[in-house]
Amino acid sequence: MEKRIEDYIPIVGRDNIDELRLIAEKLKGKTIQNINSTAVGGGVAEILSRIVPLLNNLGVVTKWDVIKGGTDFFQVTKKIHNALHGKRENITRNNIKTFFETTKANIKELRLYGDIIFVHDPQPIALIQEKKSHPGAKWIWRCHVDVSQPITGVWRFLKKFIERYDATVFSAPSFAQKLKLRQFMICPSIDPLSEKNREITRVEILSVLKKYGLPHNKPLVTQVSRFDRLKDPLGVIDAFKLVQKRVDCHLVLAGSHAADDPESSEVLAEVRERVKDDSNIHILLVDPETNDFDINGLQRGSSVIVQKSIREGFALTVTEALWKARPVVASAVGGIPLQIAHKYSGLLCHSVEGAAMQIKQFLNNPDYAAKLGANGKEHVKQNFLLSRHLRDYMLLFLALYSTKDIVYL
Ligand code: UDP
Repeated sequence: MEKRIEDYIPIVGRDNIDELRLIAEKLKGKTIQNINSTAVGGGVAEILSRIVPLLNNLGVVTKWDVIKGGTDFFQVTKKIHNALHGKRENITRNNIKTFFETTKANIKELRLYGDIIFVHDPQPIALIQEKKSHPGAKWIWRCHVDVSQPITGVWRFLKKFIERYDATVFSAPSFAQKLKLRQFMICPSIDPLSEKNREITRVEILSVLKKYGLPHNKPLVTQVSRFDRLKDPLGVIDAFKLVQKRVDCHLVLAGSHAADDPESSEVLAEVRERVKDDSNIHILLVDPETNDFDINGLQRGSSVIVQKSIREGFALTVTEALWKARPVVASAVGGIPLQIAHKYSGLLCHSVEGAAMQIKQFLNNPDYAAKLGANGKEHVKQNFLLSRHLRDYMLLFLALYSTKDIVYL
């Protein structure tokens, strides 16, 4: 059932919710149009699916449209995504042609009607070419990627579009670049009442483990991620193999295909090859119908959650695990250090061996694991829940109508 804003009072308090209502009042009469490239899979879709209904519930008319593209388009945008993370990619003239042709097709098909047009990530970025046809609309480019060390050519290509927007949003100052327009820093969030994050019973957790053929009497070490090389699933397997020599436990790699990620089948094949016939390693393709509940059960049913990414955006998987008070071992990349203070709200790793040592440390010290898990939950409660995100987004929308040069939220 769709949530109402007052449902959050028991978690974040009445004052916070009253404040949201006050701010929302000021946005009456404005329509916010979100545009991204996938309705399911990955962090952006996850956030939009939670934020959009609640903004509407607050009385801020908010819509969500998804651009369309063929595999060839998403292959190009995946290359752009990788290059923004610093990976060299061979982006050909033909690739650029595909990018513009798909943008043009979307311009034809997609109605642009928002007072505020809120474009997410690089895939739809070139829609800004239509700015002149919509006088009066405010355009925001929301970047969910850490673009602090991009391949220069790709960044230059995108920058030409970015600087035509009225404002940009990055998840953290360390993710951003110098730009000649207003920049806002807004961390992502999770919804504590969603199917993925709500409290569930032990019986429900066990039902998920049973569904996927996982043992309930052995510690589970789990990474939840799209099958993407930057999530380093092979590194997780290598770390687990070191752990397995000392502790009797199982590894779960749970993932699904995102519609805008054409590389996942290839990566999944590499993962299967590395696992071979180790029956203690479970590769799960999570049932899309029950994805959110199943991910909830898998995260809550695990003794340790791993996120051994090579590069990251914010890493919502870490936020979700911390909210469930799970001990987390994760790489110190992207938004992860904002979420994990080393040895306080989790453990930060820098190598396969480091990850293995830390997983063992948690498995061998349940009290220590529980303490760090509890600290992690409190940190998420203070900083990364949906209510704070709604507030920041509404203040951003209002700031677009003010004349101040730079506003940091
Ligand atoms: N996710 C999911 N099912 C999967 C794999 C991932 O629901 O099989 C979700 C995960 O729970 C999280 C999001 O996808 O909410 C991933 O967001 P994150 O920021 O960690 O990474 P991204 O995929 O955006 O790089």
